[in-house]
Amino acid sequence: MVNYKDLGLVNTREMFKKAVAGGYAIPAFNFNTMEQMQAIVQAAVETKSPVIMQVSKGARNYANATILRYMAQGAVEYAKELGCAHPEIVLHLDHGDSFELCKNCVDMGFSSVMIDGSALPYEENIALTKQVVEYAHQYDVTVEAELGVLAGVEDEVSSEESHYTKPEEVIDFATRTGCDSLAISIGTSHGAYKFKPEQCTVDPKTGRLVPPPLAFDVLHEVEKKLPGFPIVLHGSSSVPQDEVDTINKFGGALKAAVGIPEEQLREAAKSAVCKINIDSDSRLAMTAAVRKVFAEKPAEFDPRKYLGPARDSMKKLYEHKILNVLGSNDKLAQ
Ligand SMILES: [Zn+2]
Repeated sequence: MVNYKDLGLVNTREMFKKAVAGGYAIPAFNFNTMEQMQAIVQAAVETKSPVIMQVSKGARNYANATILRYMAQGAVEYAKELGCAHPEIVLHLDHGDSFELCKNCVDMGFSSVMIDGSALPYEENIALTKQVVEYAHQYDVTVEAELGVLAGVEDEVSSEESHYTKPEEVIDFATRTGCDSLAISIGTSHGAYKFKPEQCTVDPKTGRLVPPPLAFDVLHEVEKKLPGFPIVLHGSSSVPQDEVDTINKFGGALKAAVGIPEEQLREAAKSAVCKINIDSDSRLAMTAAVRKVFAEKPAEFDPRKYLGPARDSMKKLYEHKILNVLGSNDKLAQ
């Protein structure tokens, strides 16, 4: 049993309280590799932002759970080495799907876990979430739960269609489970193909697909029911078209990839939405950078020569999100 506090990590409680009061959102970036971890820490330190580093079940399978835990511990030390006296880094399990997985993460030093019972019948979601909360809270680990279903594909989480969160359920759910934050479904979606072309309109100027707007009415209803309660948005990549264009220019074949417009996320960040999950955008930035090196320097075979530019590109993306979308910069104690 390792407690996250011994690793220099923090849970989400104070962080979310300040974010809700301050009208900004904390970035939750997924990581699987050392380069991603370094880029996240560099961006958070340079912008003085708190940050959530999150690990999916797929990441645990890919990189090994123990290694990821040590990487998060390394991230805290790395942030200090870069000159950040008081880093605020959360190690979070993304989409935990069982009590055992969540318990394992708590025992391993995670400071926050998500239990995603959103695909279960309502009462079963409550029972499972409550079980995780009761265990996690013994160690002061915070718990994110989910109500409503997001469409799209993310690692092992996938759904054909979305079901908006029902605002009339949120008080009962939050009270009975004791969860610390709630992921809701208001039209965001997992992956780089968030919407089918027939769900979108076409911008006459650029010819690009414009996705349907987020259901801000649902968000506002939820906020009215649970004033000040931390709300989480999953599936909030914006799928930057310049990265998609670079990928396609250098041999890729991404068709009609569509994300959530950044203006809408900026608006959401000002509300009780205090955690915004971004994964696909960093995958795109990494892939675009690697493809560019491969196309322009076909004789290159030193991994540092393509993973290095990929890391720089992800760092730029993370900084852009923090500064221009989430507004979480300059929030760390000096
Ligand atoms: Zn998600």
